[in-house]
Amino acid sequence: MDLGAVRHNVAHLSGLAGRSGAATMVVIKADGYGHGAPDVARAALAAGATRLGVATLDEALAVRAAGVDAPLLAWLHLPDEDFAAAVAAGVELSVSSREHLAAVLAGARAAGRTVRLHLKADTGLNRGGCRPEEWPELLDDAAAAVADGTAEVAAVWSHLARADEPGDPSIDAQAVRLRDAAARARERGFDPLLHLANSAATLTRPDLHFDLVRPGIAAYGLDPVAAPADSPLRPAMTVRGRIALLKTVPPGEGVSYGHEWVATEPRVLALIPLGYADGVPRRMNNGGRMRVRVGGVIRPVAGRVCMDQFVVDCGRPGELDVAVGDPVELFGTGDGGGPTAQEWADELGTIHYEIVTGIKGRVRRTVTGGTA
Ligand SMILES: *Cc1c(COP(=O)(O)O)cnc(C)c1O
Repeated sequence: MDLGAVRHNVAHLSGLAGRSGAATMVVIKADGYGHGAPDVARAALAAGATRLGVATLDEALAVRAAGVDAPLLAWLHLPDEDFAAAVAAGVELSVSSREHLAAVLAGARAAGRTVRLHLKADTGLNRGGCRPEEWPELLDDAAAAVADGTAEVAAVWSHLARADEPGDPSIDAQAVRLRDAAARARERGFDPLLHLANSAATLTRPDLHFDLVRPGIAAYGLDPVAAPADSPLRPAMTVRGRIALLKTVPPGEGVSYGHEWVATEPRVLALIPLGYADGVPRRMNNGGRMRVRVGGVIRPVAGRVCMDQFVVDCGRPGELDVAVGDPVELFGTGDGGGPTAQEWADELGTIHYEIVTGIKGRVRRTVTGGTA
């Protein structure tokens, strides 16, 4: 994990936001999209972010436990969670319903501390957020809590459904509804910050930056809109294994379960101790299309990816200068034509978000690019 890349990306994003007069909240949910939330948090704050966002209360408390005390928002919870602990840790909380608000306020009273609320409007994603019909009542409850000192209304916010499809009319429609929800809040006497933009909107819709942008994936160097070659972002995650064993097999030998790959001539095979338990999907080598970089060149994977290991076809004896212990790049920055998370996503019919958050198991994270 390259913290230099995170700093580069966050500096780029907060520069874009700054031109619109907006601040930057970097989203570090799911352990920083699989990159390590505390390290990403510190790098992001050093590079221009002033706020952090996570999904769950556990994630928020873990960030606090790591010694990060920047403004921090958590937006996904059940009404029966321990809000007192979150409020005591100075975590700002999103609420999408009166029921959630009541639970959060009870937590604030138990903690003896004012909670900073981000009231979430459902502007058309129809996932979290408060429907327009219920918004006035949510504002009434919030106003009562502000009046008795239990809460402050820090923000009114929402989340886009199709920001990665620039020009889609739903984007403007959602912005109209957010402005409307904010106008209702102002009528109730609140002066909230507004925020809507995820990475895609941060990159493509400066007019929707409002007071604060919330990029996640772009901070990690993966572009939700542009092709990697056109993107100013630098991928932070490189996944590498090392060659555990080298052998040469004669023609006719089948490799890995099911013998889907068979040597047609003498072949050098390298065993890599990473598999689907580590986030290398078994489907990655359907049809033998998975490629890795070994000895400076791109080589195909031979046969099925197993739970713990897979095999790389290193060509004819002597063709490639490889030794036991050599690194093998599964995906990374794409520099020099190397494999990328985007290519994995394309192969698997998914998005790069799922690739980087899916790395797990026995993969050990090492951090380059200096300390945060
Ligand atoms: C995950 C998330 C983001 C960040 O989205 P990206 O597409 O990764 O930039 C922003 N806001 C909310 C509410 C999210 O859940």
